[in-house]
Amino acid sequence: MKKDASRREQQYNAGRMMPGVSWRLFGTLTCFVLLILIVIWVFQIVLLNSFYESSKLDEFSTTNDLIFGELSSPEDLKMVVYMRSVETDSCIRVFRIVDGVAEEIAGSDVSLGCFLHHISGDALYRLYEQAEKGDGVYIRKITSPSDGEGGTTRNTMHVEVRELEGKGKFVVMQDSELHPLNATVTTLERQFGWIMCILIMGALVVALVLSRQICTPMERMSRSARRLAKGNYGALFEGGGYREAEELAAALNYAASELQKSDALQKELVANISHDLRTPLTMIKGYSEVMRDIPGENTPENVQVIIDETERLSELVNDMLDLSKIRSGARKPSLEVFDLTETVRAVLTRYEKLTEKMNYSITFNSGSAVSVNADRTMILQVVYNLVNNALNYTGEDKRVTITQSIEGRKVRISVSDTGVGIDAADIPYIWDRYYKVDKVHKRAVVGTGLGLSIVKGILESHGASYGVESKIGEGSTFYFELDAIIDGEFEEEEK
Ligand code: ADP
Repeated sequence: MKKDASRREQQYNAGRMMPGVSWRLFGTLTCFVLLILIVIWVFQIVLLNSFYESSKLDEFSTTNDLIFGELSSPEDLKMVVYMRSVETDSCIRVFRIVDGVAEEIAGSDVSLGCFLHHISGDALYRLYEQAEKGDGVYIRKITSPSDGEGGTTRNTMHVEVRELEGKGKFVVMQDSELHPLNATVTTLERQFGWIMCILIMGALVVALVLSRQICTPMERMSRSARRLAKGNYGALFEGGGYREAEELAAALNYAASELQKSDALQKELVANISHDLRTPLTMIKGYSEVMRDIPGENTPENVQVIIDETERLSELVNDMLDLSKIRSGARKPSLEVFDLTETVRAVLTRYEKLTEKMNYSITFNSGSAVSVNADRTMILQVVYNLVNNALNYTGEDKRVTITQSIEGRKVRISVSDTGVGIDAADIPYIWDRYYKVDKVHKRAVVGTGLGLSIVKGILESHGASYGVESKIGEGSTFYFELDAIIDGEFEEEEK
């Protein structure tokens, strides 16, 4: 117990040292924000130029495909060349090579920064040569001094030569200015600082709001839990408007109500136990004092009262022990295959004296031997308790009947009496500890008020079904069923 308490204290202190939900949320959100910023930084700033250049090259290829597709119609060709040079902000020149001589068949010069229309024929020829040497395509990047802002202005020239069947050899030259992105990059970089600050502040606010929503119900519930731990079973657990908290609150409210019930039961149990123990103890003390103080009272009858009460005491203590062991699970059934019919018969031999002296009649309608796989001692106890009760409550005819019957794969043992019966409203409660329908009744065998609770505990630990059928004024039949191992036919036997 001490160990548990110090462990709980250690856990509580360790919990206090841990970062709260708001800090965890803030940390997680900040990491997420930083990750997004890094991705944006890489794509928007570091790789911006590369993406821009590769998109330009894609544009050149598309233009070439369009131009080579329109070579048969000079008018359409001129139109395509013009349109593409406007769309892509580039200069285009298209040549046909006939007998080693280049003849320009279309061209457009809409971009101011182009070189293509301002370079010599030799230079054009060298570009053509380079394309021929390659796989028909030559790309040339031209870097020139900056426009004064510290960056560089670059042109990209794209030359492609294609030999078309039946049409001859054609060369398409394109030249496009790559606009400087440095200024854009610098602006983005500056914005980045601001974006980062705003997003991190946002993460902080979101973390605070979320953690408040999550933590407030938790704090409320932990306050209620502390009240509950102090024995205030009325402590109410309230959720926080979201599913998990509501579920936790419902579970804790259920636990609190169960604790309350078990506490009430325990108090009632202590009261009942002390009452039941006190009665025989008072008798023993009283009779002993009489025998000590009054001459001539040391009679065998008085000694017998003391012995009877002592027996009752030890029976009571044994029943309490049994019940608490069964309920706590400390006493588990140790299964063995045994002859149930024989076991019932063995219980009944205990009553031979009673039947002889007090005219009780116990009938056992058994079949042929039926074996079961159960805890023999426990089943013996069940039969003993049921027969004991039947003898206690049976009617004037003092008849008790025990029947063994087979129902499918089950064997049923029923114990019937002809007594007052039990009211239907009382039936659900008779299995509870110390429940007594009628506080005053004549008894052939003294009961402890725990018998049916023990029966219930044993049968439930076996997974067996059980119950009672009763009619007021006609008697009651208590029964239980176990899985049968059958090896004979039913027959009736009178005892
Ligand atoms: P007890 O020692 O009082 O018999 P039990 O737990 O065995 O305790 O039984 C609980 C209550 O159930 C009894 O007090 C009695 O009211 C009722 N009961 C049990 N068996 C019978 C029966 N065969 N006929 C009528 N009432 C019964």
